[in-house]
Parts: sequence; structure tokens; C-alpha cells
Amino acid sequence: MAENLEKVIQEVTARYGKDRTRMMDIVREVQARLGHVSGAAMDLIAREVKSHRVEVEGVVTFYAFYTDRPKGRHVIRVTDCVTARMRHVDEVVAAFEKELGIRVGETTPDGQITLERTSCIGLCDQGPAALIDDVPVTYISSDKVKSLVRVLRETGDAKKLVKTLGEGNNALDLVHSMVINNIRKRGDVIFAPFESGSAIRNAAAVSPAEVIRSVKTARLRGRGGAGFPAGMKGEFARNAAGDRKFLLCNADEGEPGTFKDRVILTEAPDLLFEGMAVAGYAIGATEGILYLRGEYAYLRPYLEHVLEQRRAKKLLGKGIAGKAGFDFDVRIQLGAGAYICGEESGLIRSCEGLRGSPRDRPPFPVERGYLDLPTVVNNVETLCCAARVLEKGAAWFAQIGSEQSSGTKLFSVSGDCRRPGVYELPFGLTVAEFLKEVGGDDAQAVQVGGPSGTCIDRGQFGRKLGFEDLPTGGSMIVIGPQRDILDVAAAFMEFFVEESCGWCAPCRIGNVLIRERLERIRAGKGLPEDLTYLEELCTTVKKTSRCGLGQTSPNPVATTLQNFRKAYEAKLLPARQDGRQPTFDLRAALSEAVRVQGREPVAH
Ligand code: SF4
Repeated sequence: MAENLEKVIQEVTARYGKDRTRMMDIVREVQARLGHVSGAAMDLIAREVKSHRVEVEGVVTFYAFYTDRPKGRHVIRVTDCVTARMRHVDEVVAAFEKELGIRVGETTPDGQITLERTSCIGLCDQGPAALIDDVPVTYISSDKVKSLVRVLRETGDAKKLVKTLGEGNNALDLVHSMVINNIRKRGDVIFAPFESGSAIRNAAAVSPAEVIRSVKTARLRGRGGAGFPAGMKGEFARNAAGDRKFLLCNADEGEPGTFKDRVILTEAPDLLFEGMAVAGYAIGATEGILYLRGEYAYLRPYLEHVLEQRRAKKLLGKGIAGKAGFDFDVRIQLGAGAYICGEESGLIRSCEGLRGSPRDRPPFPVERGYLDLPTVVNNVETLCCAARVLEKGAAWFAQIGSEQSSGTKLFSVSGDCRRPGVYELPFGLTVAEFLKEVGGDDAQAVQVGGPSGTCIDRGQFGRKLGFEDLPTGGSMIVIGPQRDILDVAAAFMEFFVEESCGWCAPCRIGNVLIRERLERIRAGKGLPEDLTYLEELCTTVKKTSRCGLGQTSPNPVATTLQNFRKAYEAKLLPARQDGRQPTFDLRAALSEAVRVQGREPVAH
């Protein structure tokens, strides 16, 4: 066994040039071959790539999809997303537990199947869903569980669970997925027909500075939610000192309710890779990385195929479009189930083969990013827009949308509406118009921009979707009148507690405290002063956390406290006049001591 292990580690590390920055790939492959990455495997990997055991262990233990302990031959990961809860995912989990005879987190006694829960897997429009090994399984109901387990046991191949294929490229042999695209509305930017090479040819005909000027004239802003001007970011990187520069594409959408990148990657990868090449040319980068979230691993073979096709057409590689010096290529880096890697500095670290903990800024990535060299990190949708700007012109792009938000926006729509799916709509429409489009007219609330965004009430449905009013990375969760808004806020807080990387105390501890106080209120034990406590704590966590996750994680509570205060007040106990705390539970407070001593307190 020891020899075997050594052989595997040597083969895998050699395939990646014994390069420690490829640690994500090395760990993934070792795990695929050995089932888990043991301490002995970590020692050997560290030796082979001239790293330290602690660095390898840091990676293995940071990412949800890696494990240092043996698991079943197959792993079923059922999504724990709030939209899946709206569709009774707990019943599905209970059915899996019954069928397998184990609880979540356990492995069947025969070592065949491990059952887990995981955060959003990008299938909120067709949930409840699960990843079984790398295979997405959608629309699971309790009565389908038996046959899923039976097929998995009988065939030993999760791909055999795919009985019907989704539309479009989902049906290609290289994808072979039951996932459906669910494109409900096509606009002129992302989902319009596109001729490969058209944007590259226009870019190559002008200087890199002119490409950046076009993107600025188009007023293109980053589609991740913050809306930083894309041209300005490119210019910073272009002007930064460094003999190598990098273009990274963030395809790690992990915000609950977000799945639009999944559809772009499936149906418009040519547009995306064209945008990457154009951006690389503009900033002076010859290397690009597509950081693909681990949940979308099933798309990788197809994306690699598209890259190969583009190389064959001279749209990637050296001398692109026949222009000397226009050199650019792309590699795909798979993530492994860490939401924080959607934060740009966390993503950079992950690409470097490290834990995805965010970095302090400054320096900003445009000056010192990947491998400490100037790096632009752009969102999938932003890069598609950049390609379209070069293809059709800045003026064409700028006339779509609104004054401060040019172009179209992709919305991932889920929750309580009749037509969930992906919509490409011009910026500037109101929430009411949006709800009419998606069939959610009776909503009591909309979670705009996912859990880290804003939960708005009906009184705000006249507001406009765009950077000037309600910015959003694209996640739109419709919350129907039957929902308890505090249940939704609690589910989102659980998500942030789970996904905090733990680096800084305000986020690591503060979110737990917010969740606990919210639980007290939900249990009917809250006091009026708890609302003040929550407001102050939310402000503290937002102001003192190190990165965007902590700076936005209290939003589910902060924005519902602001817009749905009555829902909180309805659950509070009245304040007592005698100063005693009605919520103090003596028995609960003594329970640990009772357990340790093994006897009940004696009454005097
Ligand atoms: Fe990590 Fe949260 Fe701090 Fe960001 S804010 S560095 S996610 S602990």
C-alpha cells in the first residue's frame, strides 16, 4: 500500500510539473484515485512539490469537496439552499436517510455511499437537486430517492442516473446532463447569435489602449454586483509594472439563487473565451485562467473541447488573428466547494494552490495579484459583455439599459414564482415589471442580489434594477406571501456561518451571534432590546470584517429588520416591568452541569 501510495503521488505531482501552485489539481486527482488524501499522502505531496505538510493539509481541510478521511465510493451531496428548502428538500434528505439507513454525514456500512448536505450548487431553478459524485441530479422528490439509490448501487456509475437530457448543449456527449438551461428571455448581448472571432478581429485591428477606451465608452461595469468600471480596471492592470500579467475569469458563482454563469458556460462559452482573449490583449496578459466552480465540473470536458477548437482556429495561442504579439491562452482551474473563492483575492489564492482565504488590500490585484503579478479578475458575464462591445461597438452597447447601467443583465430567478429560470433583460426595469415577467406578482418580498444583497418589501417594488438604485449580481429570489421572512433570514445566516473562512473574528464570531439571537426571536423568546442588539451587531460585523463576505453577511438580518420590522416584533415577548428576564431558562442553563454530574439539582 505504501508503495502504491508513493507511486500515485509521484505520477500525479509529475503530471503537474511538481508545481506547488497546482495544488488544487494535485489534491483533486489524488483524491479521485485514492478516495481521500491521507496524512501520509499529504507528506508525500509536500515532499514532491517542495512544500510543507501544513500547506497541503491547509488545502485539503479548507475545501468542502476534499477530504482527509475515507468516504463512500459515491458521495451524495444534497443542496441546502434556501430555495431548495422552499421546495421541501428536507423531505428528500429524510428519504435518502431512510433508504440508505444512515444520517447526513455518515457512510453506509458497506462503504459504498456517503450522504452530505452542501451549499447552493447552482440549480435553484430546478431543485431540490443534488450532486451525486460530479453528476447534477435535478427535480428530486422523496419518491424518486429509492430508484436513484438502486441505480447507483447496481451500476456503480452516477452517470447512469441521467435518464433524460437537458436541452441545447446539455445533450452533447461531452456534457450529457439532465440540467435544463431554462432561458426564459434572450437579450441582444449574451444570448444573441455570435460569430467566433468577430470581436477578436476588431480588437486586433486597434491598439490595446483603444480596446480599453471602447470598454470605457460603453460604460461597461462589472457584473458581479459591485459595478466597478471594467475599462478602468483594465487600464490599472495595463499600466501596472510587471513582465507577466494575468486575466482571471471568476466562474465561481456561489451566491444562493445564482445560476446564470452555468447557462453561459453551457450555451455561450465561445463568447466568454472571446471576451477573455480581448481582455488579455487589452491589459497585456498572455495567460488566462477560467476558475470554474467545482459544482460545474461536469461542464469541464465540453469547455476544454471549446478551447481546443479555438486553438485550432487560431483564436487562442500565439499570433491570434494573425497579429504578431497577440498571444493568449486559457487554462481551467477547478474549484472545490468554497463560496469564499468567489471573492477575487480568495480566488487568486485558490489558483495559486492555497486555501481560499482573502488577502488584505491594498495592494489590489491589478498591481499584485496572481503570483504577485498584475491581475484582472472579471466575472463571466462582464467578459461576455466586453466581447460584444468589441464586436458591435461601444455606442451600440451604451444605448441599451439605463444612464448608469449600460447593457443587459442576466437574472437568475428562483423561489416563489411561476417561471423560474434565466432572464436577460435591459438594466433599468422596476422590480414590479420584473415580477410580472417572472410570474411573481403576489410576492411579499424579493431578495435582490442573493443573501448578501437586499431584501425589499412591496413598498419598494417601484425601485429600479441597476447600479443607480438596486444593484445585483443577478440572484433574484422571490419570496411569496406564505413564507415566514425570519425563516428565510435564518437560512441565509446559516449559509454565511458555514461559508465564513474564519480568518477574522467579526465575521467568524459575529455571524454566529447574529444567528443565535435571531434563533431566540424565532423561538418566541426574544425581547424588544434584542432588535437593538442585532442592529448594532450587524453594523459592527459589516464595518470591521476583512473582506466582502463579512462586510455583507449580516444583510439578511439587517435588511429584513429595516423592511420587515413588524415580522420581528410579532415574535417578541413583552418587556417585563420587574426587570427579570422572562427568557432566562434555568433548566437549560444548568443542563450541562446536570449532564456532567449525572444528577438533578436538589430543591431547597
Ligand atoms: Fe474570512 Fe469572513 Fe474575514 Fe472574509 S470577512 S476574511 S470570509 S472571516
